[in-house]
Amino acid sequence: MEINSETRLCCLIGHPVKHSISPQLHNSAFKHLGLNIVYLSFDIESRYLRRAVEGLKSLNVVGFNVTIPYKVAIIKLLDVLDSTAKETRAVNTVVLKNNELIGYNTDVEGIKRSLLDSRNTLDGRALIIGAGGAARAAVVALKNLGIKEIVIANRRIWRAAALVRIFKMNDLEMKSVSLAEVGRYSRTSSIIINATPIGMWPRQDETPLSSNDIPGNSTVLDLVYNPLKTKLLEEAEKAGAETINGLKPLIEQAVKSFELWTGLHPPRDILWRVAEEALKKWGRDED
Ligand code: NAP
Repeated sequence: MEINSETRLCCLIGHPVKHSISPQLHNSAFKHLGLNIVYLSFDIESRYLRRAVEGLKSLNVVGFNVTIPYKVAIIKLLDVLDSTAKETRAVNTVVLKNNELIGYNTDVEGIKRSLLDSRNTLDGRALIIGAGGAARAAVVALKNLGIKEIVIANRRIWRAAALVRIFKMNDLEMKSVSLAEVGRYSRTSSIIINATPIGMWPRQDETPLSSNDIPGNSTVLDLVYNPLKTKLLEEAEKAGAETINGLKPLIEQAVKSFELWTGLHPPRDILWRVAEEALKKWGRDED
């Protein structure tokens, strides 16, 4: 791909950003579709966040992704929020249009699309482990899928309780529990989502649940994608449950962001191949 005076910019901002595979995903799709756009990543210290966002606006970028720890902090720097970002109160994708920064949350779509392929009927109680940004996206995705009962289990229970306060409404029953009690609730859940880094490399021997705590007729989605088969997914398989790894939501959120920036559909087969190669390389680099 030739970079020239008309090349436009998309990027990722966060702190850290080193392990993100978004540059590989989006650049491969821009190249495949012959778009004159490059995707870079920028590690921004929090004291520079405002200036960085103003700079991106002045530079007339196509848009950008936002990752840890700025998915909530970015909101006050944007001009408009779409309905999913408003509902989630977290933003992972920004589009610059007519000099306005518009915030979206494509993690919601990523999680929703991943669960829609489930072989199980999506009803009954859902359990989300974690109460951070990914957990917020999971709540909204589950709500959009028609789930009526959600339990949030978190290490610091007050954060789970805060999420319940934000999202609890007439047609959605929610409860917060501590991570220590998680097994009691998982045994009666039909959907289980891990939205914490538990089990992520280099602590891949950890799992929030063992097979005894996972119903055989449940669907278990682990948002961790490094390794692809986490200890939790091994335990879920042992229990006979359906398992979905973190790559599907990762790819689907990228697809949705790409569509928002370009109005075009990126090639999913290429994204899958690039993601799998990048993750293999990541493991090798870190060893
Ligand atoms: P976050 O906002 O920082 O929240 C982290 C959550 O994990 C909090 O609930 C935190 O509990 C919990 N946690 C962290 N370390 C823990 C530990 N050692 N033991 C128990 N709980 C722990 O992060 P996030 O954005 O929600 O991301 C969470 C995970 O999802 C990450 O692994 C991220 O890579 C993954 N993710 C994947 C996708 C995807 O598309 N596959 C998308 C988004 C995120 P406390 O509140 O008690 O600190």
